[in-house]
Amino acid sequence: DRIVKQEADLTELSYELSLRPQNLKQYIGQEKVKSNLEVFIEAAKIREETLDHVLLYGPPGLGKTTLAAIIANEMGVNLRTTSGPAIERPGDLAAILSALQPGDVLFIDEIHRLPRTVEEVLYPAMEDFCLDIVIGKGPSARSVRIDLPPFTLVGATTRAGSLSAPLRDRFGVLSRLEYYTVEQLKQIVIRTAEILDTDIAGEAADEIARRSRGTPRIANRLLRRVRDFAQVKGDGFVTVALADHALELMQVDRLGLDHIDHKLLKGIIERFRGGPVGLDTISATIGEESHTIEDVYEPYLLQIGFLQRTPRGRIATHLVYEHFNIEVPSQ
Ligand code: ADP
Repeated sequence: DRIVKQEADLTELSYELSLRPQNLKQYIGQEKVKSNLEVFIEAAKIREETLDHVLLYGPPGLGKTTLAAIIANEMGVNLRTTSGPAIERPGDLAAILSALQPGDVLFIDEIHRLPRTVEEVLYPAMEDFCLDIVIGKGPSARSVRIDLPPFTLVGATTRAGSLSAPLRDRFGVLSRLEYYTVEQLKQIVIRTAEILDTDIAGEAADEIARRSRGTPRIANRLLRRVRDFAQVKGDGFVTVALADHALELMQVDRLGLDHIDHKLLKGIIERFRGGPVGLDTISATIGEESHTIEDVYEPYLLQIGFLQRTPRGRIATHLVYEHFNIEVPSQ
């Protein structure tokens, strides 16, 4: 049961959609990002211009898609959504761009996965709001310029580092989303419980927040499972005892680590004496793809100081040994 993983089925998606904050005021946390955006949005509105292109980066589930929708909402324009892997050919992107209305926000999720040929179409579109299209083939081929309506591109990526420099340079606003504090996640859990019409004890909200790996998506998912549990095993009121019990059954430990984190960390300490060990080796050992490990599992383990990334590979720190109550091997 993968609480942490980013892929979600349809019911999960519609659940998430129903919980999305609609404006900056409802968006909890990320104060720096929010106050910057507030200023830029206000300024763009005063000048009656489109907002500068915005790049949002950070681990999955921290609220990038939500923020893109909020930007469109605050600007009073439409949101068009697509993703890097969904745009295969330059023509696909040209079609999307030429269908935009003036001022629209185009959201491209996983923008680091755009094919290079598509990316090149994006450069003049972002910079001069035009498309350079080549008509014909061979010696008779010629380039035609097509004007586009002004728009705002909001790109999201889990890794700013894998974006090409020319693409990164064309964003006016670069915002990095941070993991949320337990206090902020608690507010999110309480807000979600209200939307779901669920009564929850403060301590229970606290417990869910502590085990959500700094991530609103995980907090909301855990709350949903705990709420099911409270309805079936109790009278619907989410107490801390019920929350604890449900989370234990879900194999989410007191730090929010699940069985894949455990497999990963235990693999490093049991098979490789704590590392360093390469990402591909870890991937082969635990049967998870390396990009999933890198994008989904590792960032939080790095954040809480359980893993270190070195040129020779990953190292499990003494915190991992303490967490599992295992003695640190002597060198
Ligand atoms: P990302 O695009 O970064 O993967 P999403 O924007 O899809 O993340 O957010 C995942 C879920 O978390 C959404 O359903 C949303 O309701 C919730 N969420 C994210 N950020 C916040 C926030 N700041 N306040 C309240 N809820 C949030």
